Amino acid sequence: MSIHGATQRLETLRNKHGDLKTLIELDNYLQQKLDNPNEDHHYRHMHNLSQILQHHQGLEDIDQDTFQDVMASIEKSSYATRTDKFSKSTKNKYRKTLDYLLKTQSKNWEDYALPGVNIYQKTNDQDTTDKDQLLNPENLNTFLQKAGELSADKQSLRNEAFFYTLWNTAARTGGVLQIRLEDVTVSSEVVEVTVPSHKDSPKRENLPLYFAAPVLKRYINSLPKDQEYLFESREGQRLGYAHLRKKALQTYEETGLDVKFEGQPLHLFRKSFKTYASIMELMPPGELDIWTGHALGATQIKRLYDRRDTETAGRSMRKSLGLETEDRKDWKKVLAPQKCESCGEKNSSHRPSCYSCGGVLKPENLPDQVKVNRGDPEKAELIGKIKSMRKLIKKMDLEEDVIK
Ligand SMILES: [Zn+2]
Repeated sequence: MSIHGATQRLETLRNKHGDLKTLIELDNYLQQKLDNPNEDHHYRHMHNLSQILQHHQGLEDIDQDTFQDVMASIEKSSYATRTDKFSKSTKNKYRKTLDYLLKTQSKNWEDYALPGVNIYQKTNDQDTTDKDQLLNPENLNTFLQKAGELSADKQSLRNEAFFYTLWNTAARTGGVLQIRLEDVTVSSEVVEVTVPSHKDSPKRENLPLYFAAPVLKRYINSLPKDQEYLFESREGQRLGYAHLRKKALQTYEETGLDVKFEGQPLHLFRKSFKTYASIMELMPPGELDIWTGHALGATQIKRLYDRRDTETAGRSMRKSLGLETEDRKDWKKVLAPQKCESCGEKNSSHRPSCYSCGGVLKPENLPDQVKVNRGDPEKAELIGKIKSMRKLIKKMDLEEDVIK
């Protein structure tokens, strides 16, 4: 059985060029080198190298020209023009992978790298919010529920839908507020929205929102068909930032959630989704960048490791949610839509009672033991993944003739 797509990824790799020896060598090297070879670092570097191998072949006994060519692809990628901390740290990790690659061949960074490029480059520390101070799934449910309670009747559904959409798109507030109703498509499992470009984020088309879908559907059904924007005020104006900011602050206050928003109560949703999607591996890191609008194709460079489109990111999301494959997962319970036992209506994760019939939704639909922000279950998952990757590589090693 496939575990978290690692099998497919390696399968793709094998079909593309069969340059697996390099990957196997890195795996062996990391097993010896890392204190704990089951660390997520291990998986990350394996993943990075497999990405690189999709674009560059013949990395065995690499020469300086080839190495610098690979480096240039990373340095010149859209990441290079960004000041964003996440992107810089991604590049740092790619450089570290390249350094490991050299080490497996007993080569030194100084002899091979592009002049003046250090393995590690300083990132902007300003944005390093502690993961534990972001909204985890339980916090999100609590927040949404309270936001609904604190809003006037007619606005509670809108506000719940807004905040859930803000989280699920990981867009900036300004971007979400510019979503037009005509750019929203409702289907059975997801609601697709197109977020217009905003600030330095590019337009992202048809993001399939799964978690926010039930509340969004219900909200959309309540709107006049000719409404222009998805989120409007009672007076029919595009909803304003200030109102939402105030609502968010009030909600944090009332729930007493221990989150850190540093004057940007709405930006926290974006960060929280990124962290959640990353920990849960809803999609590979590069695609998560696309989803959240980080990798701007501003410069036309052919070889970008993360030069993919929203469609790819959307497909990853669907896949990881089991919407496009048979591989269903059960980890998404905390935020998974809940089905009402009485009437069958789908409700968003945060609802204590059914939208449709008012029936109490079963408390076990909201398990309180799923912690995404700390520790063991995730680590166990990672360890399992690395183990299965390793097994697969061993197996492939045996069948190397077949691969070639
Ligand atoms: Zn019901």
